[in-house]
Amino acid sequence: MPLPERTAAFLHKAVGPGVPIREGHDSDARVAHQGPRGMAWHDLCDVRMGVDDPLLVDVVFPESLDDVVAAIRRAEQQGRAVIPRGGGTSVVGGLTAADPSTIIDMTHMNHILDWSPSDGVVHVQSGVTGPQLEQWLHERGYMFGHLPQSWEQATLGGYAVTSSAGQVSSGVGRFHDNVVQVTLATPHGVWTIGHNPATAMGPDFMGVVRASEGTLGIVSDLVLRIRPRPSRIHSEGALSPTWQAAINAARDLAHAGLTPHVLRISDQEETRGTWAMSFPAGIKGSLVNAYCAMRGVSDGCLVIMQWQGGSELPAKRRAAWKILNSHGIVRLGRGVGRSWEKHRFAGPYLRDSLIDAGYFVETFETATSWTQLAHARETVMEEVARLDARVYAMTHISHVYATGASLYFTILAPSTFGEHWSEVKTHLTDAIVSSGGTATHHHGVGTVHAPWLRQELGEQGMDVWRAIKGSCDPEGIMNPAVWRAWQR
Ligand SMILES: Cc1cc2nc3c(=O)[nH]c(=O)nc-3n(C[C@H](O)[C@H](O)[C@H](O)COP(=O)(O)OP(=O)(O)OC[C@H]3O[C@@H](n4cnc5c(N)ncnc54)[C@H](O)[C@@H]3O)c2cc1C
Repeated sequence: MPLPERTAAFLHKAVGPGVPIREGHDSDARVAHQGPRGMAWHDLCDVRMGVDDPLLVDVVFPESLDDVVAAIRRAEQQGRAVIPRGGGTSVVGGLTAADPSTIIDMTHMNHILDWSPSDGVVHVQSGVTGPQLEQWLHERGYMFGHLPQSWEQATLGGYAVTSSAGQVSSGVGRFHDNVVQVTLATPHGVWTIGHNPATAMGPDFMGVVRASEGTLGIVSDLVLRIRPRPSRIHSEGALSPTWQAAINAARDLAHAGLTPHVLRISDQEETRGTWAMSFPAGIKGSLVNAYCAMRGVSDGCLVIMQWQGGSELPAKRRAAWKILNSHGIVRLGRGVGRSWEKHRFAGPYLRDSLIDAGYFVETFETATSWTQLAHARETVMEEVARLDARVYAMTHISHVYATGASLYFTILAPSTFGEHWSEVKTHLTDAIVSSGGTATHHHGVGTVHAPWLRQELGEQGMDVWRAIKGSCDPEGIMNPAVWRAWQR
């Protein structure tokens, strides 16, 4: 899809003209040739340039747990590595071949096996996608509610092993908060983890699964927690006079137990970018402009909120708005909220159009405490400002906890900037970690964040991790490029 005119004009002004990576390669061709790759900048460029991966030997599509066990066994006998693949949306190099490899593609394991509304659970194969699960549950009056931006492509198995967090995480929790049981097919055997509803019998190995990223085994099926659909959903927009005021308001909402299901706060740069690139022409120009000028918050920070619930919702919103107003935040109304709803999964498609138009686009993220949040963002923005005049960086908060929140950064530049991205990313992640943030809040480690793993887990953590790996995958055939990157 060509870049909308308004977006092109905004980018031209912000970072200059795009530089096409290579003529004649369109988005459809990219999808067809994706092979073992994910969707990080380097993956998308390789596919666009038609770079083949000589290490990819075979692709298999199991349909049952028995098929998965047999495929792992066969790969082992043939001396091949195994790369589990879900929707292929990894942005951290999670789908990288290091040895001659068999990809075990889980997308044919896409059946909903069973459910129990009285227990509040559904049993699914791991290749099911978000839309498939939500549609099935919605038809029965229930929901799951894990809605990351990659929702239309990613699979439940992918979410389960990458510590994924969706847009509604402030309301329903992260993916792993809603996993009751997992079946993991490892080269050593089939491991069932989790006991409904809870247990005090030994350690909770669910935490091991959620960080495993295909290095221990393959998630074949899962039991997930479901909820009745809310009778009321209310999306709305607001504007904060400053970034710090918005952070303080989000913290106070969290401490008061009044966080909306979705709470997304853009900094001034992202707010400008959003008006220019994502919202229907005219919203900013007419209504919001006049309204904001009147309320004295003309260059503020956009706040998107979605409230879900029942008859208690109006009272909850009223109490929350007292807090928001006390920080100078003003209402923009439901139109802005509805516009966000409409475009909430557009990111991956906009990204393709940006690349087609010759622009570099990458994202990275972190999480830190309330007291460090503003400092962490400033640190990154200062580093970005030193890089190159033709880089536009913007930030938002999208996952809110009682004790802190996540920060999500987007970088836009002419595509030539991508040649240096690996060094720049290292530099920026060093800056994040030195300012007290984690190297990743929800994208996972993959190969890209591997250099910071030892620092965050510590030597003892690495030893324990290796012992678990030794038990599940003694020959080291599972996703070796990722595992070896973690050991360096
Ligand atoms: C535009 C865009 C937006 C995104 N937004 C979000 C977001 O909002 N929140 C978020 O959390 N993430 C986001 N992501 C990242 C990505 O979607 C997640 O990491 C997702 O969990 C990956 O799922 P997948 O099925 O695509 O897995 P894949 O990309 O296929 O694989 C990811 C990793 O998991 C392993 N794996 C996959 N399936 C299995 C399985 N069944 N068993 C064992 N290992 C397996 C793979 O080997 C690989 O290491 C985004 C990505 C893109 C491209």
